Amino acid sequence: MTDDVDVVVVGAGLSGLAAARSLQRHGLRVKVFEALDRVGGRVDSATVADAHVDLGGTFVGPDHDRINSLADEVGVGRYLTHDAGDNLLLWRKDRKRYRGAVLPIGATSLLDLARIRSSLERMSRKIPVGRPWGAPDAAGLDAQTLGSWLTAKHAGQATKDLMAVVCKTSWGCEPSEISLLYVLHYIAQAGGLDPMLDTRGGAQEQHFVEGSHEIAVRVADGLGADTVRLGSPVLRIDWSDDAVTVHSDDGPTTARRVIVAVPPAMRRRIRFVPDLPAAHRRLSQRWSPGVLSKIYAVYEAPFWREQGLSGMTISDEGPVFITFDASPPDASRGVLLGFIGGDYAREWDSVDAAERRMRTLSVLADLFGERALKPRGYTDQRWGEEDWLGGGPTAAPGPGAVASLHARLAEPVGPIHWAGTETARRWAGFMDGAVTAGERAARETAIELTTTTPDEKARR
Ligand SMILES: Cc1cc2nc3c(=O)[nH]c(=O)nc-3n(C[C@H](O)[C@H](O)[C@H](O)COP(=O)(O)OP(=O)(O)OC[C@H]3O[C@@H](n4cnc5c(N)ncnc54)[C@H](O)[C@@H]3O)c2cc1C
Repeated sequence: MTDDVDVVVVGAGLSGLAAARSLQRHGLRVKVFEALDRVGGRVDSATVADAHVDLGGTFVGPDHDRINSLADEVGVGRYLTHDAGDNLLLWRKDRKRYRGAVLPIGATSLLDLARIRSSLERMSRKIPVGRPWGAPDAAGLDAQTLGSWLTAKHAGQATKDLMAVVCKTSWGCEPSEISLLYVLHYIAQAGGLDPMLDTRGGAQEQHFVEGSHEIAVRVADGLGADTVRLGSPVLRIDWSDDAVTVHSDDGPTTARRVIVAVPPAMRRRIRFVPDLPAAHRRLSQRWSPGVLSKIYAVYEAPFWREQGLSGMTISDEGPVFITFDASPPDASRGVLLGFIGGDYAREWDSVDAAERRMRTLSVLADLFGERALKPRGYTDQRWGEEDWLGGGPTAAPGPGAVASLHARLAEPVGPIHWAGTETARRWAGFMDGAVTAGERAARETAIELTTTTPDEKARR
């Protein structure tokens, strides 16, 4: 009996697509099954009042090498995130302008924030990147949440509120929900808080001219006709030592290996026969995503620039906690992007469309004035409502789920390999991590399938 293909990839997000592309380059036959009727997963796009908007992943940093190279290879360009002008802080009902990174929250609060930031940075430097379980006192750090640690450190209210904004927008959850070890490792793998949070020089520095979703579309097109099967959720994988049968709406497909490139929480929707080891099962139960939603208001022009404003804001009120100017490079439209995360997103996601729009535009009006109330176009994207994706930008594991389970994220089980941004060593949670994880899983698989002797495998 011959296999239908060499490798089946489950999930046509950036990670699964990068894996499939890389496998084909190793000369292997591949089939990709995607549950949704589109490729891209957590990257998607829309056109609103003639402006392109990214509904999911948007920004990349200067060292997001793999996603940037992939974009170059498929001809998707990048441009700098607009950051000229004053930023705004809507804080304790007061609107303040500021420049650079020094927030106008008063000297005492600034000192307190600096103290907490430097503690987090110092602690993160002791976390081995890719191996958080190997950190000194990993279990102790993992037993705490970011919230309980802030309280134990006597963080002031301003610091707590600002860390909550970081938490909502980075992981779609509240500080009381997320493991401190996870947060420290996330900071470590980004190379520090500045690279993780900054625009210039950081992870928000650039975005894609044609949009991040276009990268996924072009990579999928390049795989060739019939390689990607859309609307085909994989519900069961039968496996033995050296073979798999993957069951989807297409019927059974046999292969020598499978790469599962879905968010960890979505692994549990697949029935594995025989069952996965207990730790792998626990991982899929405990590495759930947070909830992050996005709004876009599109105007005739970026009118805030006339007022000397950058469009970047932070607010302590919600539902919108952070905004960016996401206008096209030629500023032919003015586009404001806002993020809503954590508890606010859970509540806001459940109200009707008119109410959601009214609430978010009223925050934009508090920030940018009455003109913000009348966009030419408006849309929002509630990732928590998306079947097969689950919610936030990435997993947001709670206490106790990292020290014991992180090592299982990318650990193969027989012929089953794992991809997806959460399994990346660096920039996990980001588009870059998705691509590197897909390429890593493809490499692992290709080594197994194209190398004959154990010595040769070890060398590669
Ligand atoms: C609101 C938001 C903002 C973000 N902002 C940024 C940003 O600015 N910069 C950045 O770098 N990253 C950002 N991200 C994160 C980034 O989008 C993700 O890290 C990345 O897209 C994940 O890719 P992936 O391939 O690992 O997973 P996914 O994109 O989740 O792909 C997994 C795919 O598997 C499919 N699937 C699931 N189960 C099955 C099944 N059983 N059978 C078949 N198919 C299945 C899903 O439908 C999905 O298409 C953001 C994400 C969100 C949601």
